[in-house]
Amino acid sequence: MEPEILKSGDDSGNKMVLKYTFPDGVVIHAIGVPQAWETPLGPTWSYVIEGDHLTLVDTGCNGTVQHLEEGLKVVGYPLSAVDRIVITHGHLDHDGNCLEVVNRSGAELWAHEVYSELLGINRWEMEMEWRQQTKGFPKAEEEEFIKRIYDHHRMSTQLNVNNAIQDGMVADGLTFHYTPGHSPDEICIQFEKILFSGDHILPLITPHPSVSLSYEKFQDILPEEYRTENKYYGLKVFFQSLKKVEGLGDDITVLPAHRAVHRGKFNPIGLDRVGELLEHHRDRCYRLLELVKDEPINMNDITHNLFAGNRLDEVNFYLAYSEVISHIEFLEECGDVEMVGEKNRLVKSHGTDKFSAAMDRM
Ligand SMILES: [Zn+2]
Repeated sequence: MEPEILKSGDDSGNKMVLKYTFPDGVVIHAIGVPQAWETPLGPTWSYVIEGDHLTLVDTGCNGTVQHLEEGLKVVGYPLSAVDRIVITHGHLDHDGNCLEVVNRSGAELWAHEVYSELLGINRWEMEMEWRQQTKGFPKAEEEEFIKRIYDHHRMSTQLNVNNAIQDGMVADGLTFHYTPGHSPDEICIQFEKILFSGDHILPLITPHPSVSLSYEKFQDILPEEYRTENKYYGLKVFFQSLKKVEGLGDDITVLPAHRAVHRGKFNPIGLDRVGELLEHHRDRCYRLLELVKDEPINMNDITHNLFAGNRLDEVNFYLAYSEVISHIEFLEECGDVEMVGEKNRLVKSHGTDKFSAAMDRM
């Protein structure tokens, strides 16, 4: 379904305001909130749900609140009219403007209970620490990137969640589906026949999976009932969460946080996008197994090989390397590879591809 353009923007949708009118009469507005830095990602789409309460799904990245405000004005509201913010997950391109909106509107903040628990914790530093120790992870030094992360962290220490969401919760016509994998606090929000998917399901690009090793680091900080077994981090968890929402219905429209517009085109998706995402990862696992089939290879070389076509600057290399770890963890768990050599940093093949059947069984 193609939306109406209320305000035009660039061909990635930056600063654009869209109006979606659904067959059942439901109207949703979307605001393309640009990132605060140069990126081919395009904007974060902030969605406006009008009902008894004016609800925003995601707010965009810190430092860009004026664009959210301008977009809202086009929809017909001042920023101060926002009653409620629902955050899909705690990454800075989603909740970065939260504090500013809360301060100026008095809006309630709704987010998953894991989000709430992780507020004020410097996740970045915790992630970096173990990655460097256990995986020889390259240390990120790009100044602007680090500054953004620390600004976001400082902002998050001042936030309070008014409604800590749990899986399956229903409130005010919204149903919340807990879908960890990209992030341990990710939720998809269902409203009528619409699923606001955050970064769980995206058109054109595949969401970046988290790493299951992170669970060891964060286990003790998560809410009590999350501390026994990892069902929150890693590729396998992401697959499970994809399959969880896949069955919500053929008639569901997915409204994603990114790439709703790309190169001047709309990219409407439904839940059949889930199958494509799963196949992308299956393919990547096969390619990875192919790379290591003759001899053990280190993860650095694997990353450069798998992402050979991409421009790997520091930040992109970090993401690519991290994604390789997620895939290796999954293959390791399925018994297709093991880690060998000094500090266990070489990936050795077992000559099997049991992972593929494991994906089908989920
Ligand atoms: Zn995002």
